[in-house]
Amino acid sequence: CHGASHVFVILGASGDLAKKKIYPTLWWLYRDGLLPKKTSFIGYARSKLTVDEIKQKTIKFMKVEKDEEKKLEEFFKLNSYVSGAYDKTEAFSALNKAIDAKGSCNRLFYLALPPSVYESVTLNIKAVCMSKDDKNWTRIIVEKPFGRDLESSNTLSSHLAALFKEEELYRIDHYLGKEMIQNLMVLRFGNRIFSPIWNRESVASVVISFKEPFGTQGRGGYFDEFGIIRDVMQNHLLQILSLVAMEKPPSTGAEDIRNEKVKVLKSIPPVLMENVVLGQYIGKKGGEGEEAKGYLDDPTVPKGSVTPTFASCALFVKNERWDGVPFILRCGKALNERKAEVRVQFRDVPGDIFREGEVKRNELVIRVQPNEAVYMKMMMKTPGMSIDCEESELDLTYDNRYKGVKMPDAYERLILDVFMGSQIHFVRSDELHEAWRIFTPLLKQIDKEKPKPIEYVYGSRGPKENDKLCTEFNFIYTGTYKWVKPQPH
Ligand code: NAP
Ligand code: NAP
Repeated sequence: CHGASHVFVILGASGDLAKKKIYPTLWWLYRDGLLPKKTSFIGYARSKLTVDEIKQKTIKFMKVEKDEEKKLEEFFKLNSYVSGAYDKTEAFSALNKAIDAKGSCNRLFYLALPPSVYESVTLNIKAVCMSKDDKNWTRIIVEKPFGRDLESSNTLSSHLAALFKEEELYRIDHYLGKEMIQNLMVLRFGNRIFSPIWNRESVASVVISFKEPFGTQGRGGYFDEFGIIRDVMQNHLLQILSLVAMEKPPSTGAEDIRNEKVKVLKSIPPVLMENVVLGQYIGKKGGEGEEAKGYLDDPTVPKGSVTPTFASCALFVKNERWDGVPFILRCGKALNERKAEVRVQFRDVPGDIFREGEVKRNELVIRVQPNEAVYMKMMMKTPGMSIDCEESELDLTYDNRYKGVKMPDAYERLILDVFMGSQIHFVRSDELHEAWRIFTPLLKQIDKEKPKPIEYVYGSRGPKENDKLCTEFNFIYTGTYKWVKPQPH
């Protein structure tokens, strides 16, 4: 697509996502020469703004180096801004005029908008802003939330399907843009050693975690409507699960991969309340600043809210490979650390010949963030005269092995994928449907019965009941593993 002209339209250009993520990402891609040569950018929102005002808002998120000032000027010269309503076709005609002024071009529309205006905006794009000739395409990028349950998500999907072809729709789940998530395919299917053990014969349990060390920080109003299950578990964690559990696709093509992901999701029965732990953080006694504040102390959170800020659950994939193996999803705010990882725990060694209890289970850990790493916890002979065994690890720490390699941000990869027309790392509508099918009965039950979440202290590992759930579902923690950080030579 390098020869053609492209226009990238940011709808909701005055907003938070646009300033923090979209404009900075477009700048990085432009700076690194990754965008097609003739690309320009148009911001659109109701606010009356100038490009200069947008620049002032977004610049602190752009990490501009001293010697890049000139390039930055060039970037903003390629930007323009159109102000208009979201529900007026005339306003979109004005936007279309601005796009047409760039000549014959491919068009990308990024919906950085609240879902309440998705419908009218997409109707208007379809009515007046699409590419008119066959040689140019139009692509629409949509951000979560994709509905709040199966019904509302299906409504949105049918609305979009009536306007656009699936290959024109790019549903962002930014976890799919992360290095280690993309690495799952290579790790699983590019290595002979894993495929024979990647099943119920050898795997005891799989834990997929997302931990955040901060709470809602006074911005809990938006979060409260959704809760952690809708915000993280139903989308990001389930997407990771589908990549961990899927069968090998016939090729690395987007449709082949997405077909396998859907198949796994279809094999998962809805989550049962009895397999779920819900938590909500409270302030730490004697804590300082934010850590002293609980979720309910956030003034934007409704009084007495029972919205979970922590959730864990066990899921089962009812197919030949995984029947009976618990997949534990776990996510929470205001915990002891920032971390996202996949942990595959293997079964006990059969016919153990060592001292009882000495041999511990192997674990393969794929740490998504921070400090990307893949490590396999293994038993080794204690070095030296002893004949004991001890826990150690095969360790691939990216920082050491790939020193200085620039890891692109998830949004950089994903936006570039849209330019290139690669849908591998975007969510197809049938995946979305299955994801909501799995979680909607639970979410409805929570909305109806309003169970009181278990309190956990800001900065802790979450409710104790979560550790009980993990043990119940065959994740064994012994507390014996000690990691020694390798010393630089
Ligand atoms: P936002 O700042 O609240 O909204 C973006 C723009 O939409 C606003 O600047 C405003 O522009 C317009 N707008 C806001 N409320 C509106 C309303 N009730 N009716 C009509 N227009 C309204 O939202 P955002 O944080 O950028 O998020 C955009 C989308 O991305 C949302 O779907 C959000 O869920 C999703 N998302 C955001 C983040 C993030 O980090 N912020 C992360 C992941 C996903 P004008 O008033 O100028 O028209
Ligand atoms: P670990 O400390 O044995 O923890 C294993 C798992 O057990 C974690 O999921 C942990 O949950 C959970 N757990 C912790 N305390 C528990 C408790 N009291 N009851 C029940 N479950 C509990 O092993 P690890 O996390 O794999 O490694 C230990 C440390 O070494 C980590 O900080 C890790 O990042 C580091 N390490 C780094 C590298 C590397 O950078 N290449 C390699 C190996 C190890 P939580 O997630 O909530 O803690």
